[in-house]
Amino acid sequence: MSGVSAVPTRADLVSLPAYVPGRTIPGAIKLASNEVPGGPLPSVVKAITEAASSVNRYPDTGAQAVVERIAREFDVSPTQVAVGCGSVSLCQQLVQSLCAPGDEVIFAWRSFEAYPIVTQVANATGVRVPLTAGHELDLDAMLAAITPKTRLIFVCTPNNPTGTVIRRAALERFLDAVPEGVLVVLDEAYWEFVTDPDVTDGLEYARTRPNVAVLRTFSKAYGLAGLRVGYAVAPEAVAVALRKVCVAFSVNALAQAAAIASLDARDELMARCKEIVAERTRVYDALVEAGYEVPETNANFVWLPLGDKATAFSEHALDHKVVVRPFAGDGVRVTIGHPEENDVFLTAARSFAR
Ligand SMILES: *Cc1c(COP(=O)(O)O)cnc(C)c1O
Repeated sequence: MSGVSAVPTRADLVSLPAYVPGRTIPGAIKLASNEVPGGPLPSVVKAITEAASSVNRYPDTGAQAVVERIAREFDVSPTQVAVGCGSVSLCQQLVQSLCAPGDEVIFAWRSFEAYPIVTQVANATGVRVPLTAGHELDLDAMLAAITPKTRLIFVCTPNNPTGTVIRRAALERFLDAVPEGVLVVLDEAYWEFVTDPDVTDGLEYARTRPNVAVLRTFSKAYGLAGLRVGYAVAPEAVAVALRKVCVAFSVNALAQAAAIASLDARDELMARCKEIVAERTRVYDALVEAGYEVPETNANFVWLPLGDKATAFSEHALDHKVVVRPFAGDGVRVTIGHPEENDVFLTAARSFAR
């Protein structure tokens, strides 16, 4: 057996961009994947450990206890909540639930790199709308991109990788203008790090508007990236569809237990986020001081729009044993870590020859 096969796979997968994960290099500081630097809280580890003794059993495929806990925490109806194997899985489920082959999905570019991938995997057509010169989502251009084939629009705020946000007035104007039959998906993976007082809680719209869904995740602020659990708050019919296309049992038992324990420890976790936000301000100021252009960020990362120098910057950081996330020809995204880690990064940034 050589492994060679005549079995045809989908021809279009050749053109599917690969998701590029942040690199992990032994001994280096990883500021490449927007993880939080602290390990899970003791109470969360305890919940995971307890759940581990029952993994001979299948998990609750609807993650009902998590759904109800989320509904209670955020004052939404459980019928509007769907839990997924990370919110990236919910992104894919949304496209699968709403789009027939050839239907269109609008997203900004550059934005979360999973959007074009999940769109193509689900046989829909991605429509990329360039960011503004200020590295923000161009909502007017996104509106102009709507056609009769548009089924959903991913609106990432804060935007990964640029960190920019959409403020209340602009968002409401946009939501008012989107046709009712098009779902607006507010991807708020970094919501817990937002400090701008003009940024609204997307759940406010998911509660009241019939074509708005919100995606949140336990991977970032809650520190559970390795366990894979996120949630959507969506119009009831969309939540039903999300559950239908979910791979059975894909939200595992440890993730479910950890999600509930994390919501129980939310105050403690939010206090940690405050520390990250303080470090974000310090790193941002230091970079500006060093002469970098840095868009204002409300996430746990900063964006350096270095253009052609992105790859060289990343290599230079690696020489200082810091792994950042370059997007060749475009920029570099750097996650905020522990103060000592950020210091090593800043030393590298200051010594980069531009
Ligand atoms: C990290 C991230 C997610 C989801 O992460 P999961 O680990 O799959 O929950 C979703 N959207 C954006 C914009 C992200 O950066």
